[in-house]
Amino acid sequence: MHELAITQSILTISLRAAEEQHARRIRAIRLKLGAFSGVVPECVQLYLDVLAKGTIAEGAKIEAERLPLRVRCNDCGQVSEIDRRHIACPACGSVNLHRLSGREFLVDSLEVDT
Ligand SMILES: [Zn+2]
Repeated sequence: MHELAITQSILTISLRAAEEQHARRIRAIRLKLGAFSGVVPECVQLYLDVLAKGTIAEGAKIEAERLPLRVRCNDCGQVSEIDRRHIACPACGSVNLHRLSGREFLVDSLEVDT
């Protein structure tokens, strides 16, 4: 259900943007996803295939880019971008970190035919 609602909003945003550009067809929808956004691009694609039927986004491909995770170290104050698989401050090695980002989810751009 989570991805279904998200996909519906992606489609609405994309159709509106494509309409403003007088596009005939949307070929691809590029997303930016935070490391903890909880959005699975493969699921979005599956839902989009169904939801976009009969619209100019029919057959559009989802392209997702993962955004780095930004944290501030509570021990040394350093702000850094880290990989979620290696959660530690690059400056001092502390794992006492405050998360500054990670839940972002946005439609970055569209690839359209005009
Ligand atoms: Zn640190």
